[in-house]
Amino acid sequence: MAVPRVLVIGGGIAGMEASLQVASAGYEVFLVERRPWIGGRMAQLDKTFPTLDCSSCIITPRMVSVGSHPLIHLLTLSEVIGVEGSEGDFRVTVRRNPRYVDESKCTGCGQCAEACRLKGRIPSEFDMGLGGRSAIYLAFPQAVPMKYAVDPERCLMLTRGRCGKDGPRCQEACPQGAIDFEQEAEEVQIEVGAIVVATGFDPFPPEGKPEYGYGRSKGVITALELERLLSASGPTAGEVLIDGRTPKRFLFIQCVGSRDHQAGNRYCSRVCCMYVAKQAHLVKERIPDARVTVCYMDVRAFGKGYEAFYERVQRDGVIYRRGLPSEVFERDGQLVVRGEDTLLGRPYEEEVDVVVLAVGLVPSQGAEELAGTLGLEVDEYGFFQEADPNDPVLSPRPGIFLAGCCQGPKDIPDSVAQAFGAAARALAVIGGAGGG
Ligand code: FAD
Ligand code: SF4
Ligand code: SF4
Repeated sequence: MAVPRVLVIGGGIAGMEASLQVASAGYEVFLVERRPWIGGRMAQLDKTFPTLDCSSCIITPRMVSVGSHPLIHLLTLSEVIGVEGSEGDFRVTVRRNPRYVDESKCTGCGQCAEACRLKGRIPSEFDMGLGGRSAIYLAFPQAVPMKYAVDPERCLMLTRGRCGKDGPRCQEACPQGAIDFEQEAEEVQIEVGAIVVATGFDPFPPEGKPEYGYGRSKGVITALELERLLSASGPTAGEVLIDGRTPKRFLFIQCVGSRDHQAGNRYCSRVCCMYVAKQAHLVKERIPDARVTVCYMDVRAFGKGYEAFYERVQRDGVIYRRGLPSEVFERDGQLVVRGEDTLLGRPYEEEVDVVVLAVGLVPSQGAEELAGTLGLEVDEYGFFQEADPNDPVLSPRPGIFLAGCCQGPKDIPDSVAQAFGAAARALAVIGGAGGG
């Protein structure tokens, strides 16, 4: 008989949906997330295309359900380091890294972060470096679990062995005595019947296209940075500000790191055309007199309602210009984009305030190593390889299933659909969907 439990690796929208499906059928789930909190990339988004639903309004209730479900054991700051056995009976070793905060004591009051000597001095990864945080922190206010975590690479106590002359201020400030610098990593063994991999993606590193000037000009940002600027919970409370000013001339460059032989990624990242249309619309909504240009190779609006949304954005006054720019540079302190309009067959130079790089999706860091641990393979780009191109859920190893962007770039609806498929397959292995 199969072990009636499922392991889900990755706590983004795909991993959360797979976990909730399995748990709601009455089976136990171990959800392993390597970050201190779940939510994945969707938690960083402002709105979702094409409906412009508020992303955090959709994902927050899911995170809360995952965090409070009696059958879901949430293992944050954790990674799978070994898998033995076979379908129906896997023995999995998970390394649990220390939070340095006792989860059973922390109330999420935030007094530690307020007191931290490094308060506001560490770039927040959640805000894509546009805001600051402390060395003990909660990535975002709705984070699940709502437990603070110490950043071991930044905290003075953990990197230098001491924090100031009088010791850690965070510990002094914590009314619960929850901070514990003695915590150590531990290994736990888990037995499960099936495994769902849902480790998602990373954004393409914009430094890979140096001709676009990312890191050299403050006005060149990535689309994920713009998501955080647009978000009401972001570092500027939803106001689009570059260097403290409201920009008026926006230019989006699509396919940055996608469909690009030079960058080594020949595939289409599938979401950039639509997230650019969404962001262009949101920019026009916030700054009605802004001039917004989108440079594209061709627009792939393939999903339900996508073409209509793309048409709506053009009616908003967003200018679509065919042909990707060759260069972004500064001339006398002014950002200039140079390219060729391939419809008109004419070269141009355009002065702009902001260039938004629509970075593609690449496999999440460590995907190949995890594939090795699980006895799976990755494709030529590093995404998890499915066993059959007509069945993206199935991995080559029986009992292990794939969900979301770990298998290839996709949008949220497709990630959720694949997660439901993976959960159904996992349930079939451990004994059917009728309850444990
Ligand atoms: P992720 O969200 O990446 O989650 C993966 C999780 O796995 C993360 O929590 C990660 O920490 C964890 N993880 C990774 N490796 C490991 C490991 N080894 N062990 C344990 N845990 C691990 N889609 C839409 O449909 N609408 C939109 O409007 C939209 N806008 C977007 C805007 C931008 C700028 C970008 C870049 C993408 C956008 N998308 C949009 C796409 C959307 O973000 C993805 O479809 C969705 O996040 C995929 O979810 P996922 O769970 O597969 O991956
Ligand atoms: Fe948790 Fe203590 Fe920090 Fe409050 S002060 S959030 S209880 S660690
Ligand atoms: Fe901040 Fe010092 Fe506490 Fe580390 S030990 S979290 S640096 S106050």
